[in-house]
Amino acid sequence: MSALVLGHMHPDTDSIISAIAAADLYSKRGLDVTSVAQGAPAPETAFVLERFGLTAPEVVENVAGRELYLVDFSDLAQSPAGMADATVMGIVDHHKLGDITTSLPLEAWIWPVGCTNTVLTNMYDFYGVEIPRPIAGGMLCAILSDTVMFKSPTCTDADKKAVEKLARIAGVDDVMALGMEMFRVKSAVDGASMKDLVFRDFKDFEMNGKKVGIGQLEVVDLSLLDGVKDGLKKEIARVKAEGRHSVFLLLTDIMKEGSELLLASDDPSVVEKAFGVPVSGDSVWLDGVMSRKKQVVPNFEKAFK
Ligand code: MG
Ligand code: MG
Ligand code: MG
Repeated sequence: MSALVLGHMHPDTDSIISAIAAADLYSKRGLDVTSVAQGAPAPETAFVLERFGLTAPEVVENVAGRELYLVDFSDLAQSPAGMADATVMGIVDHHKLGDITTSLPLEAWIWPVGCTNTVLTNMYDFYGVEIPRPIAGGMLCAILSDTVMFKSPTCTDADKKAVEKLARIAGVDDVMALGMEMFRVKSAVDGASMKDLVFRDFKDFEMNGKKVGIGQLEVVDLSLLDGVKDGLKKEIARVKAEGRHSVFLLLTDIMKEGSELLLASDDPSVVEKAFGVPVSGDSVWLDGVMSRKKQVVPNFEKAFK
């Protein structure tokens, strides 16, 4: 049975494209691997796959008994069923180190950069393997997505350098135009249920023994969400009632470079503790906050201590 290359729950573009790229690279190194995903592609990812003629990885529900190469995560809370009976062989990631451990030495490439596909670009280099043109296009989009077109505080020079290289291989002349097209697709909420929107990019965290869910919607203009905001507030209250201490939903305006945080929490004062802004009601504007990974999760972890 081939080993599985797998990204996180509620997969984003980086998770899906990383799995495709890593499976390509590993198989060219002679490993028997298949890319899989913990869900179907979100609209942004579907756009990217279609644009470059890539196929969505098969969805996997249970990984018991399998060998795994993880991409874009290393947290048990973002893993599928059967993890306790799987063997983690490798990790490629750009998040804080999670709580997955191994019984054997593993191949780990974890860099503090803006996107897993930036690490993978460098891995292709390291192994002297050429990146296929369609995969380069997908990788390029994943980096533009994760770094919010270089605006996120998570973005590094390594990400920009990778984009330059990938654009050359993929034959993309205007990287920013492609990025805007992609973010316009991402901004569309018509026809999606409130549940779909909340879980489109959603992660659970364990903070001082409490379960905390944090979702994010990135749009080119917050006013696009005016019609769904009340529905989103009701939905996060419902998701919180499933057994979480708090659910936060970041509505990020990528042009204004800030986020409106919707909150449903047993203790709303954690928001004030985390960000130093007064909170009354069920939402607050956080100027300059764009990155869940770098600006939101660490602040909440401190506030929950
Ligand atoms: Mg991701
Ligand atoms: Mg990522
Ligand atoms: Mg993201």
